[in-house]
Amino acid sequence: MAQFRLSGMPVCLRCGYDLRATPSEAACPECGLAAHRSVIEHSHPDDCPPGWVGMIGAASVMLLVSYVGFGFFLIAILINSTASASSLDEGILYILLVLAISHAVGNFFIARDDRRGASKGIWRVNRWLLRIVPLFPIAGLGMFIYGFRFAFWLIYGQTPSWVDEMNDLSYWLILSVVLCPAVTFFRLRWLALRLSRPKLAEHVTIVAVGCTASLALLIVCVFFEWGDIRHADISFFLLMVLPAALVGLFDLWATLLLFVVSRRFLQSAREARARWKLADASRGEL
Ligand SMILES: [Zn+2]
Repeated sequence: MAQFRLSGMPVCLRCGYDLRATPSEAACPECGLAAHRSVIEHSHPDDCPPGWVGMIGAASVMLLVSYVGFGFFLIAILINSTASASSLDEGILYILLVLAISHAVGNFFIARDDRRGASKGIWRVNRWLLRIVPLFPIAGLGMFIYGFRFAFWLIYGQTPSWVDEMNDLSYWLILSVVLCPAVTFFRLRWLALRLSRPKLAEHVTIVAVGCTASLALLIVCVFFEWGDIRHADISFFLLMVLPAALVGLFDLWATLLLFVVSRRFLQSAREARARWKLADASRGEL
C-alpha cells in the first residue's frame, strides 16, 4: 500500500488545523484526530476520511440505479418497437429524466476528492467532465418533454418552427449520453485501483470501451433504421436487436461493477469510521 508524507502544507482533515508543528505520531491539538490520518497519504479507502468514503459509496449506488433503470428502458423500448409504431410514452420520458438526474448526481459526487487539490492534470479534466457532461442529457430530455407537451397542446393548430429546431437540439443533447460511460468509468478505474483491485480495474476498462462502442453502434443503427422497421424480420434483428443486446450486455456488466464498487466503498466507510474512532481513543496514551 502506498503511504508517503504529503507535500504542501499539512492541515487536519477534520478541523483544518495547521499541522506543520505537529509530529505525525501525535494527535491534532485542536480536535484530537491522530495527525497521521491527515499528513500521510492513505490510498486505501479503509484509511481515508469516512465521510468521503461513504459519499463515494452512496454516489456509486445512484449510478447503479441509473444503469439498472437504463437496462429496463432498453427492454421496454425493444418490446415497444415490435408491438406498435407508436412513439414514446410521456411517463417513460419522466422516468428517464429521473434516471438522468440520479446519474448526474452520482457522477458529481464520485468526482469529489478525499482531500483538497488532490486531482491534477488529466484528473482535473476528468472531474470537470464528470460534473458537466451528464447535464447535457438532462437538458436534452427537459427540452424534449417541453417540446412534446407543446406539440401535444398545439395538435389542432400550427406548430411553430422553433419547436422542430428545439427537438433537433434536444436529440443531440440526449445523444451526448454516449460520452458518459467513458467519463464515469475512467474515474471508477482509479477508485478500483485505490481498493487494490487491479482485476476489477481491468473489467472497468473493458466496460468503458464496450459501453461507448455499443451505444455508438446502437445510435447509428437507430438513426438510419428507425421508422423503416415495423416488424420482426432479418434487418430488425441485425440493426435493432443485436446492437441493443450489446448495449444491454455492457449495461449489465457495468451494473455488476458498480454493485461491487458501491458495496466495497460502503464497507470501507464502516471500517474507516471504526479506525478513525480507534485513532481518536488512543490519543490519550500518546
Ligand atoms: Zn483537527
